[in-house]
Amino acid sequence: MARIELKTEKQIGWMREAGLVVAEIHKALREAAVPGVTLLELDAVSAHVIESHGAKSNFLGYGGFPATVCISVNDTVVHGIPDETQLKAGDLVSFDCGAYIVREGREWHGDAAFTMIVGGDDAGSDRARRLNSVTEESMWAALAAVATGKRISDIGGAVERVVEKRRDGNWEAGIIEEYTGHGIGTAMHQEPEVLNYRARGIWPKIKPGMVLAVEPMLTDGDIETFVEDDEWTVRTTDGSLASHWEHTIARTKNGVWVLTAPDGGAAGLAPYGITPQP
Ligand code: MG
Ligand code: MG
Repeated sequence: MARIELKTEKQIGWMREAGLVVAEIHKALREAAVPGVTLLELDAVSAHVIESHGAKSNFLGYGGFPATVCISVNDTVVHGIPDETQLKAGDLVSFDCGAYIVREGREWHGDAAFTMIVGGDDAGSDRARRLNSVTEESMWAALAAVATGKRISDIGGAVERVVEKRRDGNWEAGIIEEYTGHGIGTAMHQEPEVLNYRARGIWPKIKPGMVLAVEPMLTDGDIETFVEDDEWTVRTTDGSLASHWEHTIARTKNGVWVLTAPDGGAAGLAPYGITPQP
């Protein structure tokens, strides 16, 4: 396994700057994602926010990806390419995007995703609401595990515990296994890999200076997926819905700091008794 990049406090400060740009993109997308808007129009919203903050897109051109944001509707899990598709009330849609800034000659990256029901929660189906709330909860539990856990594998364990807690006789979320979280810093994707499920073996210890993108992806059916002919769009094979939530989080000297959350993660981590520590 490649070396894990540990960041200084100053470098984490730069990543916070990038993270706040990502938070601004999310805010703008949340407001703009109304029935009738096209996915291309939403990509333009994202591009505008990035540019107006003097940042750069780390999605545009990544492996040839043609947009600044992945927009994944209903049974699309991740990596949806913005096109002329119009959003409809009740669609369950995820937005995954990022930005980087350059400081002292190097790039400092942020990466985050959220999923929403177009037209508001009341416009969605029970299954969409349930899946989305369990996925968001699993992300916050996983972020809390960055504060309380000893090893990287504790993060996926936290996702799995939420899925187990929220299942009942008729329903259980599925955890996508083929796509994972990751280290992040001077590049968007770095070591270590951050699985979203319990893993055996000796995984790296969580240490101050580590910055991770924690991003559970859940379905309300089977976890099998396929990639469309465009070589990006990942969809569930059985057509079940998918939800995806992600934040970039730093393990600091004193605790954790959610770099892509405007409040540093204060609200989301409060149920776990954790106060962000920049
Ligand atoms: Mg992402
Ligand atoms: Mg990511």
